[in-house]
Amino acid sequence: MIFLLLFNFLCYFSVNGTPHPMKIAVISGYGTLDSDMQTELQNSLKWFQSAFLVNKSSNPVTIKDVFQSIPEYQKFSSVLVQTHLHRQNIKLQDVQQLLEVADFTVFVIAQDPRRCARDPDLLAEAMPIVPPLATMSICLKNNPRHRNPSLDSRFFFDLFRHEILHGLGYGMIIDKSSLTHRPSEKYIWRNSNGIGHPEMRQFLDFDDFALKKAKSHFGCDKMKGIDADGERKNHLNEYIFGNELMTTHLEASGNIFSWISVGIIERTFNGKEQWYHINRTFVAPEANQYSYGRNFGCDFLQRSCHEFIKITEKLRPNMSIAPFCSKNNRNKCFKLPGSELVYKMSDKECEMRRVIGDESVSSCGGNEHKSHSLCFLMTQSTIYHLQTDKQQQRRCPIIKHLPVNYEVVQCPRAG
Ligand SMILES: [Zn+2]
Repeated sequence: MIFLLLFNFLCYFSVNGTPHPMKIAVISGYGTLDSDMQTELQNSLKWFQSAFLVNKSSNPVTIKDVFQSIPEYQKFSSVLVQTHLHRQNIKLQDVQQLLEVADFTVFVIAQDPRRCARDPDLLAEAMPIVPPLATMSICLKNNPRHRNPSLDSRFFFDLFRHEILHGLGYGMIIDKSSLTHRPSEKYIWRNSNGIGHPEMRQFLDFDDFALKKAKSHFGCDKMKGIDADGERKNHLNEYIFGNELMTTHLEASGNIFSWISVGIIERTFNGKEQWYHINRTFVAPEANQYSYGRNFGCDFLQRSCHEFIKITEKLRPNMSIAPFCSKNNRNKCFKLPGSELVYKMSDKECEMRRVIGDESVSSCGGNEHKSHSLCFLMTQSTIYHLQTDKQQQRRCPIIKHLPVNYEVVQCPRAG
């Protein structure tokens, strides 16, 4: 059976030296996931296969490397392999062949059941070992579907894309010689009453592609760096980047792999050369949809939401700054993707909502530098990472009941 699987793999290796669609194999000694999760895992691998081009790795992994870095795999006699095409059980001794033909291999490892029980919001973690090898663990009992049966399967698609991107090294540069370190900076966050308190802003370290895209997205030529979620620098900052796929929160209604993430993953090296090349034609329809914060300008990036709202109302009274409440949003309308219905935007229903600062630390994230975790707290439409109590309480006026995937449009003329 393995030869059928390998045959399909091998078809793609006829051309040497030019980047080819990336084949990822996910290997598990723990059987299949819930059926829709497993299907979305496969869909995410199809997505990687279409979106990513790579050369054959110059440092292939061997089964010995696997046994050394993931010792629990010594105990299995057979494992389940998921590729973008197939799902099948193979004998452990056949894994070596698979490692030779796959461009990247992710091993599902056991999640500590006590840790999953202690943190009911912990769902998945992924980390690179030595590329092209990564591990991923999943708390099956914490499946958010159990609490929200109507949760769209698309959520799991985004979850696996997010996790596998971490596995590929997103946010962690591998070749230190090309590291472009961005120092953090202090700034003052002013509350609505004008009282300020000092905060730190952290930036991702390898932004030479992404920063150009971000400057043009936000309309701020002075943008200093790509805001990160904190010292770990492996996520985009939630407050700045909203529904981007690689922020610390996943939205239940969909998350976008933007040109900014394209820039970051293309600067994530495996060896001396750029390893990941993104198929721009394939990702463009999704990346072009990313509209959170578009043209909000430098005041959004560098000041508090309260200052941003005040300044924008004064200088650009016609610009909608949803999801922030503002008189600027009067006479503005929005629609949802895939629907022609147009809704009026209102700032009458407004709430002070806690937003996520730069220092946000997930309470279930662990402290190991390389580890990554997703922790979820469910609200009506959004799934959040949990925050620690230590976090600065920052609040911003946000329009109530505005779905996260809104798109600002012209209001139809009355009459
Ligand atoms: Zn993450």
